[in-house]
Amino acid sequence: MWFLSQIELVPNQLAGAESGMEAIDAVAVYSDGVCLANAINLVQPSAHELQLKICEDCGVEHCNPNDRALLRRAGERLVLTPDFSAMEELFPDEGALPPDYFRERGVPVISDQIYAELRRAAPELADASALEPLSSRELARIVQWEAPAGLLGLFPEVPRIERAAVVAVSTGDVGERIERLNTRLEQLFTAPSAIRFEPNSDAAQVDYFILDNSTLEEWRVPLCGDALLADARHLAVPARA
Ligand SMILES: [Zn+2]
Repeated sequence: MWFLSQIELVPNQLAGAESGMEAIDAVAVYSDGVCLANAINLVQPSAHELQLKICEDCGVEHCNPNDRALLRRAGERLVLTPDFSAMEELFPDEGALPPDYFRERGVPVISDQIYAELRRAAPELADASALEPLSSRELARIVQWEAPAGLLGLFPEVPRIERAAVVAVSTGDVGERIERLNTRLEQLFTAPSAIRFEPNSDAAQVDYFILDNSTLEEWRVPLCGDALLADARHLAVPARA
């Protein structure tokens, strides 16, 4: 997951002179050089679903069937999660996908302070207290989404890693580590509970699976005790263990 430290609001215009329409004033949101949203001020969230990239030609929400995400609460932070339920409903057709940066950088996690900045630009955004909590089922899907392609099964399969996909683990027994991960992912997926984030005090103790591919890629074991690693410095902890 991608824990944002700050955002930048930048004036933008949709539908310029080339399209023959009058330009629409917009506010784009950037963080670390990535455009998170091109027109946050034009978003009219329904069920806390946001169109992060609005069609540049017409400025109408939902003209673009993708680049969407859901806003969820996770303790003191907010998460922009892919809308996995909508993606499952549409499968095998594509649609309701999040923007590409969700895969390149990770699923964005923001502080209340950053959300307050967004709401100043986009008053239609819901109050943070009104948002649904991020569920452990969504968390299991996020881990699957952020893993190397197909490693935790292909969406919409239940997230699970095959023993044959892994050559070794940096510490411990590889078979046991895989079994523990699969058991935990299944629990999180089938018995959803709310998620909150905690600092990972043991960041030096992160282990790696060595994957059975041409580059023997290292992949961080996402399970840390009963919690999942959201990034190296944060744990995602379910309310019910
Ligand atoms: Zn359009």
